[in-house]
Amino acid sequence: MNDPVHELKPGATQAHAIAGQHRVAPQVIAQLCEAVGDGNCIRQPEQLRTYESDGLATFRATPGVVVLPSTTEEVVRCVKIAREAGLPIVARGSGTGLSGGALPIPGCVLIGLARMRKVLQVDFDNAFMRVQPGVINLDVSKAIGAQGWYYAPDPSSQSVCTIGGNVAENSGGAHCLKYGFTVNHVLGVRIVLADGSVHDLGGPVLDQPGYDLTGVVVGSEGMLGIVTEVILRILRKPEATRTFFATFPSTTEAGNAVSAIISSGIVPAAIEMMDRLAIVAAKAATGLDWPDVGAALLMDVDGPVAECEHTSKNAIELARKAGAIEIRVPRDAAERDLMWKGRKSAFAAVGRIARNYLVQDGVIPRSEIARVLEEIAALSSKMGVRVANVFHAGDGNLHPLVLFDARVPGEEKLAEEISGEILRICLRYGGSITGEHGVGFDKAPFMAEMFTEDDLETMSRLRCAFDPACALNPGKVFPTPRLCGDKPGPYQPHPAELSGEAYRA
Ligand SMILES: Cc1cc2nc3c(=O)[nH]c(=O)nc-3n(C[C@H](O)[C@H](O)[C@H](O)COP(=O)(O)OP(=O)(O)OC[C@H]3O[C@@H](n4cnc5c(N)ncnc54)[C@H](O)[C@@H]3O)c2cc1C
Repeated sequence: MNDPVHELKPGATQAHAIAGQHRVAPQVIAQLCEAVGDGNCIRQPEQLRTYESDGLATFRATPGVVVLPSTTEEVVRCVKIAREAGLPIVARGSGTGLSGGALPIPGCVLIGLARMRKVLQVDFDNAFMRVQPGVINLDVSKAIGAQGWYYAPDPSSQSVCTIGGNVAENSGGAHCLKYGFTVNHVLGVRIVLADGSVHDLGGPVLDQPGYDLTGVVVGSEGMLGIVTEVILRILRKPEATRTFFATFPSTTEAGNAVSAIISSGIVPAAIEMMDRLAIVAAKAATGLDWPDVGAALLMDVDGPVAECEHTSKNAIELARKAGAIEIRVPRDAAERDLMWKGRKSAFAAVGRIARNYLVQDGVIPRSEIARVLEEIAALSSKMGVRVANVFHAGDGNLHPLVLFDARVPGEEKLAEEISGEILRICLRYGGSITGEHGVGFDKAPFMAEMFTEDDLETMSRLRCAFDPACALNPGKVFPTPRLCGDKPGPYQPHPAELSGEAYRA
């Protein structure tokens, strides 16, 4: 076994200095290595760098050690060892989160769940699957696709993100408009609490008595416990799907089309919007021959064939009335897949038109889409910063992408300011600071703008009921240290951690 890694080096950042406070002692590393096997215990500095950030790469911190357990029992052992040593714990799936949820606390024990990727049970009669948390979202549908089944929540990152991460973030996706978010598809979880106890919450049988603790755990961002098994609701694939792509002069007409379609009683399986910049980026990345227009909608309806034909015809008519320039219906499955590839790769595609970008995630009532996008456009031109929009229009779940060049002094800071201002616009219109990416580290300061002190205190009390020492993912979600473990206790976040300065890359 090699030596521990956290020697402070000359020129170490403040984050590294804080890591020193949580230095993992050699004997603790030895115990962790024994718990998961030497090859699954990562402690070399260059290897630890892989785990320094999640998708929010502007913030980084080095964990003290990373363990990769493969069973619930191994997770329990790691949690007990870490807690006996007084170390904070951060769970991690694939690290695709966009709010810094899996950002390590410097010097923490990071528990990576990526090796726990077994499908444990498939029960078609009762329409559920039991999986380990490291199973990749898309692999769930792949495992049951041949039998005509699938798992509905489909984040755009579904080819890489894990079910455990989806549960922690209550992830959404294009098709969650009709079918509901992760919380509507998780029937139960097995969870390891900070004291090492193991609990089965919920289960495949519907209408369980008692509090809905499964619902509490879904969306809890790794702060209540570590999920080691998930029971997922699975669905029969719909008989048919009809897709169309509609272009508009601007986001105003496209936004009005969304409101008209949904208020007519149509429930699309998905209705996604892209503005001009997002279309340009998606075209550059995929070679799609989409026209240069102000906005586009990509819409799916699904269900029995007759219903699909009728509904898509009506929706197309409503889109035309709202000002659609052109409607394209894919000729075959391959063309449809390409259209969806264009949409799902749009975040990454923005890398083609900007060196750096921040992904924002806010929610507004969908009737306000047109007005809010106009406000964002006004903000963008006032500040001289480009903002691309690609988002789940049916849910009113905006994803503005604020473009900048990190090499130019001041641009990143300005992008952050605009990003924050966009959230405030969402709040002004009666919306929320996150639709699906979670609060994590990034949006904790905005919680106090959305919730009252009483709201935050109630949430903190719930957290403390699961984890009185606040050892799991401390310093996330809540804007300031609050109750139990966040106040004087075993783990005390450094002020620089709370302000974010400690983690700035
Ligand atoms: C290109 C791109 C597109 C995206 N599109 C979408 C989208 O359409 N919809 C959407 O909702 N999100 C989207 N995301 C965000 C991200 O993919 C999701 O939040 C996803 O659920 C994170 O999964 P992960 O496995 O990467 O989790 P991580 O990033 O590793 O972790 C996320 C959070 O979950 C916690 N966690 C992870 N595993 C566990 C566990 N087993 N038990 C307890 N806590 C755990 C972590 O502590 C952290 O707080 C996108 C991201 C990218 C990069």
